[in-house]
Amino acid sequence: MDSNKIKLMLALVVSVWMATGCTTENKIVEEKAQQPKNIILLIGDGMGLSQVSTAFYFQDKKPNFQRFETVGLIRTSSSSHRITDSAAGATAFSAGVKTYNGAIGVDKDTASVATLVEIASEKGMKTGLIATSSITHATPASFFAHEKSRGMQDEIAAWMPESGVDYFAGGGLKYFADRKDGKDYIEKLTQNGFEMDTIGDGLDKALDKNKKYGFLLAKDGLPKMIDGRGDFLAKSTAQALEYLSGTEEGFFLMVEGSQIDWGGHANDGEYLVGEVLDFDQTLGVALDYAEKHGNTLVVVTADHETGGATLASGKITDDKGVEKTSYNKISLSFSTGGHSATLIPVFAHGVNSAQFTGIYENTEIFDKLLPYVKKGE
Ligand code: MG
Ligand code: ZN
Repeated sequence: MDSNKIKLMLALVVSVWMATGCTTENKIVEEKAQQPKNIILLIGDGMGLSQVSTAFYFQDKKPNFQRFETVGLIRTSSSSHRITDSAAGATAFSAGVKTYNGAIGVDKDTASVATLVEIASEKGMKTGLIATSSITHATPASFFAHEKSRGMQDEIAAWMPESGVDYFAGGGLKYFADRKDGKDYIEKLTQNGFEMDTIGDGLDKALDKNKKYGFLLAKDGLPKMIDGRGDFLAKSTAQALEYLSGTEEGFFLMVEGSQIDWGGHANDGEYLVGEVLDFDQTLGVALDYAEKHGNTLVVVTADHETGGATLASGKITDDKGVEKTSYNKISLSFSTGGHSATLIPVFAHGVNSAQFTGIYENTEIFDKLLPYVKKGE
């Protein structure tokens, strides 16, 4: 082979190597570009399709639910029961395991499992938790605590000071202060860099990004919407988004509309609708943020349905004073005071939202979010 031929072959080999090398590199860059930096997970406790539908029938404006481009369905059974509770339901989201009803951040053998909040904060992401229940209640608890039973709210509170959570807001003051065991976790939180607010006047303030914040605004759960809770959920979500923003690593924020479930348990349509509309308004805050800033994935789902709620026809009285059923009146009716086993909707918007389409297990919410809190590892 003469030297020209050798040179030509070498050139070919080099160019092929460069071409494939460059393609792989481009692919990696492309994949990284497709990773959302910020994750907002909104959970409507007890929110099945009937509950979601109330946002379409019981307000005049277009529901924020309608702004999501992707819809999927999840199966929610726990390891112990075909009908899950909120603890197993939330642990499926927070840690990706099917566990028993009542389990808080532990697997079916009661071993602790790493949560999205813990993994995210280890990777330098900011994290936040917001609920209208006590912050130690099953759903938020499953993101920062590890206890074998949801009833152990005193023990759950003790996890918060060193949890890696940067911002939390909700109720549950009695689990942190004036406890039977005399321990003061408000003091402990303050020692650990939290600025604590038990009144709520700080919800309107711009926050110092170098501090951590805890809002405990009721002894236990916050008031119902129909009893005048106001815009706590939307307001704290807006504040948290502003506060958590601005780092290279991004943030993970979980927001729970806790009392949609309680309206269902009470078989109280008015209570339920008030909570759903409050949640829908909060979705608007999250979606506006995602649209303004980009780099954000918004996922909305529920742990299970509560109440076996249906939007059946209601009764009207006609001109002659006769009562009859009308297809022009919708009235919420219920089939149980507990949870039900219906498939649960998932709504997604933003970077990589398309992966939330289809029918899958509740644990896959965790599986789909994990790469984004692990930062491409
Ligand atoms: Mg809950
Ligand atoms: Zn419930």
